[in-house]
Amino acid sequence: MIQYQRSSALFAKAKNVIPGGVNSPVRAFKAVGGTPIFLTHAKGAYLYDEDKNRYIDYIASWGPMILGHAHPQVVEAIQKRAEKGTSYGIPTALETQIAKQALSMVPHMDQIRFVNSGTEACMSAVRLARGYTGRDKIIKFAGCYHGHADAFLIQAGSGAVTFGSPNSPGVTAGTAQDTLLAQYNNLEQVKEIFASNPEQIAAIIVEPVAGNMGCVLPKEGFLEGLRQLCDTHGTLLIFDEVMTGFRLAPGGAQEYLGIRADMATYGKVIGGGLPVGAFAARKEIMQFLAPVGPVYQAGTLSGNPLAMTAGLTMLELLANHPETYTSLDEKTAYLHQEMVPLLEQKGIPYQINRLGSMISLHFTDTPVVDFDSAATGDNDNFKKYFHGMLQRGVYLPPSAFESYFLNDAISKKDLEYTLEVFNETLKSL
Ligand SMILES: *Cc1c(COP(=O)(O)O)cnc(C)c1O
Repeated sequence: MIQYQRSSALFAKAKNVIPGGVNSPVRAFKAVGGTPIFLTHAKGAYLYDEDKNRYIDYIASWGPMILGHAHPQVVEAIQKRAEKGTSYGIPTALETQIAKQALSMVPHMDQIRFVNSGTEACMSAVRLARGYTGRDKIIKFAGCYHGHADAFLIQAGSGAVTFGSPNSPGVTAGTAQDTLLAQYNNLEQVKEIFASNPEQIAAIIVEPVAGNMGCVLPKEGFLEGLRQLCDTHGTLLIFDEVMTGFRLAPGGAQEYLGIRADMATYGKVIGGGLPVGAFAARKEIMQFLAPVGPVYQAGTLSGNPLAMTAGLTMLELLANHPETYTSLDEKTAYLHQEMVPLLEQKGIPYQINRLGSMISLHFTDTPVVDFDSAATGDNDNFKKYFHGMLQRGVYLPPSAFESYFLNDAISKKDLEYTLEVFNETLKSL
């Protein structure tokens, strides 16, 4: 049994001065119980905690560390850049460099603006879409996460499917009223929403492959259908590629799935482990943004040289090593393929969803295609599974509603070890 004494003590202290002891809720292990581990450092595929335990990391900081932790080139670039000052609030050539690099990887986008988080990117993209179309309403899908801006913290209201209500106190009913909610993969619902809100919908925002209710794949025709509806109704299609961008392919889901979005938002990988977000669109849309256009958006630390250096180094590494994507895909496919017989042998209800290096396991018989089906998973089993894996040195997302993100530092040996641990853990369920 590995011990967590120091982590427990640190968590207790943290709770005195930070609400729940964490700066982002999922880290508190509320969904799985127990004490969150506190890290001292990470390197390659491994996390190291305060009690000197080592874990194989399957969350990659929720995506960014796609090449593993403390990648030598990224670290060196950050160190060198830090000596030149870390923030000016004045333009640098670096910003143009990373913009060009990102736009060269991503299809259909002419211009990009950098911000500090995925939340900011999605919030700003929606404001721009509203400004550009002159419409107020947006459509989002239950279970898709677009950051914590008010407009996205909406759940299905009672009764009519299309009428959202706030899912957090502090979000006003007025805000909720402009966010229309549909089930992921349900094109009929989206059609109904368009029919009952003619010429009022500025944008559809969607995770092209959902990663925030586990990994949920778009059904054949779903994204194509959204594309068509947007074209018919003069609505902008926003792909939230904060997770999928630079992960599924250099050009993200747009490239992987071959579907054009009008706008795309980025985060996670694009910052190489520093706080960066970005949103992109074709030029006529981006020209609506201040200082050229009327839609306001700004940021003191946006385009920060340290963050841009980390992001640029990461994007260049990925662009120069396209084999990374094949390698990640093969590793994740291997994990998937080897988990199946172990689950079959155990005879436990399960679903595995996977695309590229995103994968999730749900303890249910129901195919997981949207939030409601994701919620049918057996959470008691999930808790035992999560802690069983953790105890044996494998760090998985501490919630059944999150995807795993593989990093390319994970070796075949790490995968084999993970599968051994997986088999042992299953026995305890
Ligand atoms: C993580 C995430 C966000 C929010 O990004 P933050 O940097 O945490 O604000 C938005 N959309 C998706 C799809 C995400 O996975």
